[in-house]
Amino acid sequence: MTTFILIFAFLFGLVFGSFFNVLIYRLPLGKSIIKPGSACPNCGNPIKWYHNIPVLSYIILGGRCAHCRVRISLRYPLVELLTGALFALTVGVYSADIARLTITLYLVSILLVVTFIDFAHRIIPDEISISGMILAPIVSTIFPSIHTEMLFAIRPAEAGQFAFINGLLACLVGMLVGGGVVYLVGLIGKAVFRKEAMGFGDVKLMALLGGFMGWQSILFVFFLGCIFGSVIGIIFWIVTKDRYIAFGPFLAMGALVMLFLKPQIIQFTFYTYPEFLRGLLLY
Ligand SMILES: [Zn+2]
Repeated sequence: MTTFILIFAFLFGLVFGSFFNVLIYRLPLGKSIIKPGSACPNCGNPIKWYHNIPVLSYIILGGRCAHCRVRISLRYPLVELLTGALFALTVGVYSADIARLTITLYLVSILLVVTFIDFAHRIIPDEISISGMILAPIVSTIFPSIHTEMLFAIRPAEAGQFAFINGLLACLVGMLVGGGVVYLVGLIGKAVFRKEAMGFGDVKLMALLGGFMGWQSILFVFFLGCIFGSVIGIIFWIVTKDRYIAFGPFLAMGALVMLFLKPQIIQFTFYTYPEFLRGLLLY
């Protein structure tokens, strides 16, 4: 992996991040994502291309609109930099497998957009979740090798000419487990706390992610999401006195961890952790 390719992936990510900013701003408002071109939300002046260069323009213009000098949210360069960093990381990790590389770039993009929309509006747009739920079974049938989890004692990669059936099944089981676990915990939470804990948007997001990542990964995603959610949720509650915080961003964080650290997480959970527990019991 040459540094040149990683820098190229980062720059590529910056440009995509600029487009994700458009999605984050327009999707929750139900506006078209293609037309019209970007304009300042305050003065309405169209943003010229040389004022729309990712990160650079923000720094040169001092974080303000070129016309009316109103402050532009730090979210814009932040989303661009995050996309650049995650694209470079994805290319660095998955460069050997073009199918998984493409799918991971797609998932990373979705997770970024969903995180910022859900945090601000507490919704996960159907444009993202439903389209992904349709895409998952199609992609899994064409590229069954993206599913590495054991299914009926067969790995999709070792299923020969029927691999496509295994890919499709692995996807459907993943969708069912991902959507199902959030739905069930939501039902229990509602019965116990008499309060909506998780929305149906989370169910659809987890079905989408499960369809691409498989049932094993998606259970870890949920578990990690709950850990991140409780730790950060308590801090958020102390700081803002707001008891309600969207769950989507934490599921997204869990998914990012599983996309890049799955072997380490599996190793820790099934091999290191029991040793650690045994050590505690014995001494
Ligand atoms: Zn302006």
